[in-house]
Amino acid sequence: MSEPSRIKQLDDRTIGHIAAGEVVERPAQVVKELIENSIDAKSSRITVEIDRGGFDLIRITDDGTGIHEHDLPLSLDRHATSKLSNEEDLAAIGTLGFRGEALASIGMVSKLSISSRPRGTEGRSIVMDNGNKGKIEPAGIAEGTSIEVSNIFSNQPARLAFQRRPATETSKIVDVVVSHAICHPEVGFRLVSDEKTILEVPAVDEMEDRLYDVLGRQAGKMIPISAPKSDSDAPGDERWSGWISTPDITRGKGDEIHVLINGRPVAAQPFLQSIRRGYKTRLMQGRHPVAVLLLDLPNDEVDVNVHPTKREVRLKHSWRVLERLERSIAYTLESTPTEPESSGGITGITSLAPQPAERRVVEKPAWAQTAQISLTGEKPIEIKKEKPRPISQSESSQTTITGIEAIAPALSIGERELHRHAGCGETEDIDNTEPLGPVINDLPAMEPLAQFADSYILVQADEELLLIDQHALHERIRYERLRHDESLWQAQERISPVPLDLDVRQIARLEARIEDLNNMGFVIEKKAAGYSITSAPALLSASELEPFMHDILLDMSEDGAPLETIEQRKDHLAFLNSCRGAVKANEKLNLSQMRRLLDDMRRIPNPWACVHGRPTAMRIPLNALDHHFGRHG
Ligand code: ADP
Ligand code: MG
Repeated sequence: MSEPSRIKQLDDRTIGHIAAGEVVERPAQVVKELIENSIDAKSSRITVEIDRGGFDLIRITDDGTGIHEHDLPLSLDRHATSKLSNEEDLAAIGTLGFRGEALASIGMVSKLSISSRPRGTEGRSIVMDNGNKGKIEPAGIAEGTSIEVSNIFSNQPARLAFQRRPATETSKIVDVVVSHAICHPEVGFRLVSDEKTILEVPAVDEMEDRLYDVLGRQAGKMIPISAPKSDSDAPGDERWSGWISTPDITRGKGDEIHVLINGRPVAAQPFLQSIRRGYKTRLMQGRHPVAVLLLDLPNDEVDVNVHPTKREVRLKHSWRVLERLERSIAYTLESTPTEPESSGGITGITSLAPQPAERRVVEKPAWAQTAQISLTGEKPIEIKKEKPRPISQSESSQTTITGIEAIAPALSIGERELHRHAGCGETEDIDNTEPLGPVINDLPAMEPLAQFADSYILVQADEELLLIDQHALHERIRYERLRHDESLWQAQERISPVPLDLDVRQIARLEARIEDLNNMGFVIEKKAAGYSITSAPALLSASELEPFMHDILLDMSEDGAPLETIEQRKDHLAFLNSCRGAVKANEKLNLSQMRRLLDDMRRIPNPWACVHGRPTAMRIPLNALDHHFGRHG
């Protein structure tokens, strides 16, 4: 047996390297730490300059309070901070930084140079080169602080090997600057990448103005959240405010949900579920809204000291805070006219401006009621019928016939209504579409007997009577056609280029992945007026191009990410389009159209369920009828 290894105290340098590993994982994290320092120093203007995604250079210049000459060497020591003085202060932290680790860690893994000039003093600078501290030197700079980081990780080959491409890092840095810019409208931000200014927002008084500056046009489609009256009496001092998108504006990821706790940007992940629940069934599965949500609560009810990068925080009353968020979102959407996803024009959308109180008590338009149905498996809300449908109701006839096979519960009236509202487009001309491929399922040849209530087709299929929901079936057929016809996904040149309204983060991602986009059939041009799509897959209509591009750009936020999810995006699109062009309920079909649908039904892989997983048909075996009518001995 070998001797146990003996324990020794690590030297400071090694400890520093270990700590640096957590705080400085990538250039974007350096930018985050430095911006936080500038904000803590009460700056009103912060300029961030990066070269090659920050790998060559990161320079942050602010006009804040500066660092006293004697504090310059100290600022480079671990656990040296001006923001805390004792243990009690930890209980209620009001600054972004407090650990005193950032500068020390950055100085371990790069060449860090700090120049600073507090008001009324001479400028001074100090350098720390991969852990070696230099002397204080005079520096000619304006009031404030300028921090330069170069050669990051050049002495850490292992770390360098795991870094992203510069363009990807640039886009991550844009994310960081944007999220701080959203949190601090009172600070002007400028981001310069490889000598090009890619973001410049002036200091403003109102967060609304800042949102317009960073989010662009989509900010105009966001609505302010408000809590139900009864919430003001609910226990707890926490308060939510902010803006959420109407359900017609969604993203495939939660990346455009910004959560700020007492002015600190935090990871949105822990809030996503409550946000979704607040939207009830208005969001389709896997979709997320765009949102800026501000939580204000007493500093001693949030613990920010749980994670080295402070992205995660702990809340004392987390469930209460989450429920309050859910209630606010639900209340806001209930009192605001909005449209379900995939419907056409957006009407009645109120912009960021606060709404007068009486607007909140709106009568819901028909589609708003019908949007509240389950696409997500949640319990549908009870919906009143708009007008009686021409169906004689006789529930018992269904339940007493034994042997009837319906694959899942029948379509709710609500779901049918959603379909009707989703379908603003023209119904496809059934007779003149290309036939699908060969017969691929074991359905027999079928003969339409009649149409019932202009909604169901009565069909003879060998020894069975089928009752087919014409919309559900047609939707399924269209989905299969759209999804699998490769020609629809081929690039098609657009007669008039489709302009793209992109914010800075999206532009950074676009530039980072332009080649991948080309491979997917998108040709994007940059002109003085901005970006536009000149070529795109044929299936995408002009109006779908921009939302589709927004989704793709979200997927492209990290190297290697996009193409896995492109298939999902295609599904989503085929899904929306299949619903749109399908024949509706209450639409008369002639025999040849019915025959055509039945013929196509044999050529799709899953004929029994529509794209929502609802049944397309109810099967009544002759046997079951015989039994019901007492024909069996
Ligand atoms: P922390 O922010 O947790 O205190 P840092 O290592 O980030 O730790 O910074 C150390 C100290 O350096 C800060 O406490 C602050 O006093 C000073 N400092 C850093 N950056 C700036 C800046 N841009 N302006 C003024 N002071 C700064
Ligand atoms: Mg700091």
